[in-house]
Amino acid sequence: MPSKNANHGLKPAKNSVEPNYVLVIHGGAGTMSRERSTPEQRTAYRAALSRALKAGYNVLKQGGEAMDAVVAAVSINSGHGAVFNNAGKNELETSLMVSKPPASHPAMPTSRRGSSVTLITRTRNPSHLARALYLAPELAPHPMLSGATAEAIGASLGVRQVDPSYFWTEARWREHRRGLGLPEDPVQYPRPESPGDTDSETTDVASFSDDKDNEVWEPLDLMPTGTVGAVALDIRGCIAALTSTGGKTNKLVGRVGDTPVMGCGFWAEEWKRDGGFVKRSWDRLRGKSKYEGVGVSGTGDGDYYIRRAAASNIARRMQYLGESLAEATQNVIDDLFNEGGMGGIIALDKDGNVALPLNCGGMYRGVIRPDGVPLTAIFFDDQLNEL
Ligand code: ASP
Repeated sequence: MPSKNANHGLKPAKNSVEPNYVLVIHGGAGTMSRERSTPEQRTAYRAALSRALKAGYNVLKQGGEAMDAVVAAVSINSGHGAVFNNAGKNELETSLMVSKPPASHPAMPTSRRGSSVTLITRTRNPSHLARALYLAPELAPHPMLSGATAEAIGASLGVRQVDPSYFWTEARWREHRRGLGLPEDPVQYPRPESPGDTDSETTDVASFSDDKDNEVWEPLDLMPTGTVGAVALDIRGCIAALTSTGGKTNKLVGRVGDTPVMGCGFWAEEWKRDGGFVKRSWDRLRGKSKYEGVGVSGTGDGDYYIRRAAASNIARRMQYLGESLAEATQNVIDDLFNEGGMGGIIALDKDGNVALPLNCGGMYRGVIRPDGVPLTAIFFDDQLNEL
């Protein structure tokens, strides 16, 4: 059913008396095409996107934090089903960033901004780990941590740890073997490193999401990644961006992608609007806040996102060149494309505008606003609409 929303979800509803909050998500980008998928598969993917949107929406609707909304949206899928590196292991990466400290943690230093983790092998839900580290500046003073250190701090904070075999899925394993030109059969099912430890008892601190809903999205495309991202604006004007990935299939052991690198695969920031008295008064009359802000989550070939500092460039284009969110994101996506970097970006600004440009066959994506209607799309030329 086509959406009743004339702007296809990209702009906030005009004259709305409802508070302005919005959530945008992605489930990875790639060289996908309609011809290689069935209508049933497409419906299943869009239903999964809609569930993720509603999970985050439920947080925002109750006046919850943008930070908790993005974790709720991403936790439905992240981790399980991640791609393998060239040694047949899963090394996961996740990042969380906020434009200002969440209202629930007023003592958090404004300069802290976010936390990211890389080379994660045991944390059941890496997005919970990123959130827990962000909220524990004494234990995790650095913006980025890797592997055993990040996981040990997470475990001490109650973040659930599992045996690495938890992340194994047959579809990803076959893709890894195929990619290396190795025989897929017989499939080698993983043996837990510590028998009996497939799911340790540590309680997960993140009670705002329901792990029972965890599921695997079977890949539609030729370049599946198992990446998920979310950006939310809450009613207090805080923007949060969260991205979680297994990285690129058959990446080198130890490779770090754009997802945990601040400014490359993700960004969230607010800054004071420029201009003299007249401009500021005009902005006020148009209902604009004193601050401008943006949140970004990227997906695609992260090596290119790193080389171009893609995510923070969007903020700088808006701030220094006066570009709109739509212009800035499109320019960054075009620059990536011109260098051979395939992918997509989801982003929103402080006024609730949303942009989801991509330079490849498709990106699983969706938007939800205060009306609670999840709008989703998959392929390059799809309009966002209701399933
Ligand atoms: N950007 C991720 C990486 O390169 C992969 C993805 O977005 O699917 O690690």
